[in-house]
Amino acid sequence: MSAKPSNVTSQLLALHLIESQIRGLTGRLDQAERTLKAQAKLLADIDAQTSALRTQARQLEAAAANDEGDVKVIDERIAKLRDQMNSAKTNKEYTTFQTEISVLKADRGRLEEKALASLTKLDAVRKSLAEAEAAHADRKSVADTAARERDQRKAEIKERLDELTAQRKSATADIPDRALEKFEERARLGDEDIMAPLEEHDRRNREYVCGSCQVVVPMEKLNGLMGRGELTTCSNCGVILYIEAATRDAVVTTKK
Ligand SMILES: [Zn+2]
Repeated sequence: MSAKPSNVTSQLLALHLIESQIRGLTGRLDQAERTLKAQAKLLADIDAQTSALRTQARQLEAAAANDEGDVKVIDERIAKLRDQMNSAKTNKEYTTFQTEISVLKADRGRLEEKALASLTKLDAVRKSLAEAEAAHADRKSVADTAARERDQRKAEIKERLDELTAQRKSATADIPDRALEKFEERARLGDEDIMAPLEEHDRRNREYVCGSCQVVVPMEKLNGLMGRGELTTCSNCGVILYIEAATRDAVVTTKK
């Protein structure tokens, strides 16, 4: 373990560097996690579609079987009427049976058409179902690969991440609450820089600017930062400022 930084700004900078490394490591893992989630969603969509097609197939099978059953009942009724027709006593009786048979035959034709329509639709549904099942298999293999990559990345970074997490804990321990709160407040902003180096703008006039927004940092702030490494934020953008060694040397040499 290296020596602990001596002032609050260097303590914050050490924490900042540790957190940047943690973000770098977990960023790759987050990406793998997002890919896996997207693949799982696509797989769930295919499964929902498959399940809907299976229900539809069952309903069509039942409808076709029902209509075919009704056709059978009509056939039995027609056979019975034919027997009765053959033993008809009068012409009128014969004609009555004949009329009833032709009505039943028309019904039978309609039922057969309906059953055929259900079976034709069933063929199409089964075809879609086969396609969905093939799509499921393909997607499942992509999702499995994504899961393996996620696990692999997690395993790859684990040791280093544990190390950095321990370092972060130790780096945080000695930082005064007020400075740590300021740091965390910046971190919560997400896209904004948390810390930025002081940048030399004009050496002769000792002008230094905020490395994040390029606005000049007033001399009293510069002195506080230079001297005791006080917690110094940019008055314009709020970033926590620090001094890089090269800049510090330049400031020192131009000082009276
Ligand atoms: Zn600034």
